[in-house]
Amino acid sequence: MNTLYIVVPCYNEQETIEYSAKRLLEKVEDLVSHSRVSTDSRILFVNDGSTDQTWDLIKQLHKSSVAFCGLDLSCNKGQQNALMAGLMYAKEYADVVVTLDADLQDDIDVIDKMLDKFDEGCDVVYGVRSSRRKDSFFKKMTAEAFYRFMNFLGAKTIFNHADFRLMSRRAVNALEQFEEVNLFLRGIVPLIGYNTAIVEYERKRRKAGETKYPFRKMVSFALDGITSFSIRPLRIITLLGVVILFVSLIMLVYALVSFFTDAVKGWSSILISIWGIGGLTLFSIGVVGEYVGKTYLESKRRPKYFVKEILDEKKKSQ
Ligand code: UDP
Ligand code: MG
Repeated sequence: MNTLYIVVPCYNEQETIEYSAKRLLEKVEDLVSHSRVSTDSRILFVNDGSTDQTWDLIKQLHKSSVAFCGLDLSCNKGQQNALMAGLMYAKEYADVVVTLDADLQDDIDVIDKMLDKFDEGCDVVYGVRSSRRKDSFFKKMTAEAFYRFMNFLGAKTIFNHADFRLMSRRAVNALEQFEEVNLFLRGIVPLIGYNTAIVEYERKRRKAGETKYPFRKMVSFALDGITSFSIRPLRIITLLGVVILFVSLIMLVYALVSFFTDAVKGWSSILISIWGIGGLTLFSIGVVGEYVGKTYLESKRRPKYFVKEILDEKKKSQ
C-alpha cells in the first residue's frame, strides 16, 4: 500500500496549527482505515523560522502521535523553500506527497480524489480552486490578473492553482533536479511532464491568524514568478525601443519642419517627451536589472535551506 506524506509549511501559525493538525490526523486515519494509504503515512510540518510558538506546538503534536513529524528550518526561507525542504525529506519515505497550507484553506477532503487520480496513474494532481468567492475583491482581482499575465508571458502555470497538489515520488525526484534558487513551484512543476490531472475544490477563508502574504510579499512573489519563467518582458522592451525609435524619426522631421516655420512653441511637447522617455528608460532598465539580478543569484548556487532539527520516529530508528 502507498505511504502518504502531507507536507505543511508553517510560518507563525500558532493560531491555526492545532486545529489543522487535528483535522489532518482525522483525514489520515480515515484514509488508513479505508486502506487507501499505509499506516506509515505522516503529516510533516515544516517550520519556516517562525518567531512564535509554532515549533513548540509541533513538538507537542509529535509527542502526542507518531503520525506528526516536523522539520525545523534554520530561519525563515519563504513558503516555496519550506515546501521544497518538506518534499525533499518526504520523498525518502513516501510514495506519494500532498502539499497544502497550514491554515487549511484548501479542502482536505479533496485528497481522496487526488489519490484516485494517482491510482489511475497520474504523477501530479493539481488542486484548482473552482471559485474565488471567499477571497477579498482585491485578492481575487490581483490573483486572476496574475495568472492571466503569466500565461500571456508564456509561462505555463495552471489557472487558479496554488500549492495544493499531489506528487508521486517519481515527480518529486524530477523536481529535485531543477537546481534553481529562485523557486516558483507553480511554474516548475508543469515542466516535469508525466501524467497530470486536475481536481477542483472550493477554497475557504483563513480560520485564524492572518495571511503571511501581505501586499509587499505578493508583489515580490509575482515578480519572481514572471521573471523566473519568461524572458518576454525583455523582448517587449526591445520592441518598445524600436517603436520609440520610429516615433523619434517622425519627431525629427516634425522638428525640422517647424524650425523653418513656427519655432519656439514646443515647450509642452519637450516636457512630455522628457518625462515619458525618462520613465520608460528607467522602467526598462529596471526590468533588465531584474533578470541580471536573477542571474546573479542563480550563479551563486546558494543552498536553499538548512534543516536545524528533525522530529520523526523513522529517522531515529535508522
Ligand atoms: N508560509 C511559509 N513561509 C513564509 C510565508 C508563508 O511557510 O514565509 C506558509 C504559511 O504558514 C502557510 C502558507 O505558506 O502555510 C500560505 O500562507 P498564507 O496562508 O498566509 O497565504 P495566503 O493563503 O494568504 O495566500
Ligand atoms: Mg492561506
